[in-house]
Amino acid sequence: MDFELSDEHKMFRKTVRDFAEREIAPLIDEAEEKQKFPLELVPRAREVGLLGVGFPEEYGGSGGDMVMICILCEELSRVCSGIGVGLFSIAMGPGAISALGNEEQKRKYLPSALKGEKVFALGLTEPNAGSDLSAIETTAREDGDNYILNGSKIFITNGTFADYVFTAAYTDKSKGLLGMNLFIVDTKTPGFSVTRKLDKLGHRSAETAELLYEDVRVPKENILGAEGGMINILQLLDGGRVIVAARALGIAQAAYEAAFKYSQERVQFGRPIAKFQVNRFKIARMAMEIDAARLLIYRAAWLLGQDKKCTKEASMAKLFASELAVRVAGEALQLHGGYGYIKEFPVERYFRDAKLCPITEGTSEIQHIIIARELEL
Ligand SMILES: Cc1cc2nc3c(=O)[nH]c(=O)nc-3n(C[C@H](O)[C@H](O)[C@H](O)COP(=O)(O)OP(=O)(O)OC[C@H]3O[C@@H](n4cnc5c(N)ncnc54)[C@H](O)[C@@H]3O)c2cc1C
Repeated sequence: MDFELSDEHKMFRKTVRDFAEREIAPLIDEAEEKQKFPLELVPRAREVGLLGVGFPEEYGGSGGDMVMICILCEELSRVCSGIGVGLFSIAMGPGAISALGNEEQKRKYLPSALKGEKVFALGLTEPNAGSDLSAIETTAREDGDNYILNGSKIFITNGTFADYVFTAAYTDKSKGLLGMNLFIVDTKTPGFSVTRKLDKLGHRSAETAELLYEDVRVPKENILGAEGGMINILQLLDGGRVIVAARALGIAQAAYEAAFKYSQERVQFGRPIAKFQVNRFKIARMAMEIDAARLLIYRAAWLLGQDKKCTKEASMAKLFASELAVRVAGEALQLHGGYGYIKEFPVERYFRDAKLCPITEGTSEIQHIIIARELEL
């Protein structure tokens, strides 16, 4: 394995970083305050080539590997994880179609989605089914050439404005996951509604919705890939975990940079607080652990890119980076003293945003379970 990023990766990191600092940073305060994702960013992101990364060129993508996708996620999060998650989800939203859709679905949905003209959201979680996906209650009843969907979804990122929601529903619960499918649901279909935009602790500039399906008629051809495809879809979760790990890494990196800078500027007892050994050691530890997280993430991304099994490595990266983000953001806030608790400094946002990482794409507890299982314990 090469321990240095390629020139292409380095250039891409610079492109994303410049974009995030130039275009996203000025929008953060208003978007966080109003809890509104700034959709005007999407065409600008397209112009600089942030949409379509990792997708095949024949459908309008720009190619690129999983390491590039991680860099995109990390750098957006470093500036603002809330806007970052919204924009990244728009960029990667149609990923399930690219990975598992049939040719017709790819041709129909990918070109407009990869231009950012159509937005996809992922609807798995329900009020009574989070970690345990098999407990979902949404059903899809066959009716001629259609399925009729009934149920609800919660915590759906970009669900407030998505054009399509990949919706998990049981066609036949007695078959377990084989009887569960992912449907491409057009949100303009009668019976579909956004019941609530959720008020959150962090990631306030990303919009998170509760959705209701009341007799939503979906054509049979909108089942993603082959029927019973939920088993295949679960394989995509490894990639999702690596992405959340990269998001956590971006938050940790931002918190570390803030702590590094502030600790040299803030003078107490006649010296910058960075001169006190207790603080130096904290910052040294942050730097070391961030490096370790980055290596775990890039290793998992590299394995994914080689189509190698990496369930254990993806879970390790996700667990380590998520918990690291919470720890580093907490220490960075502590190093800012009272100012860390005030909104004028971004560390309080990092602290709130970090707490999402151990929850989404499988909680930390679930990652422990997966790692232990993969170790055949
Ligand atoms: C801001 C936000 C955005 C999200 N975006 C999306 C999205 O776009 N699409 C989507 O489908 N979902 C999304 N989610 C949902 C997210 O993936 C779930 O919240 C997550 O999977 C956990 O499910 P839950 O909240 O129902 O918690 P639960 O599963 O109810 O877990 C509650 C607690 O019990 C623990 N627990 C559960 N099972 C076990 C076990 N077997 N052993 C030990 N402990 C256990 C958990 O670790 C956790 O601590 C989002 C959530 C948030 C907060």
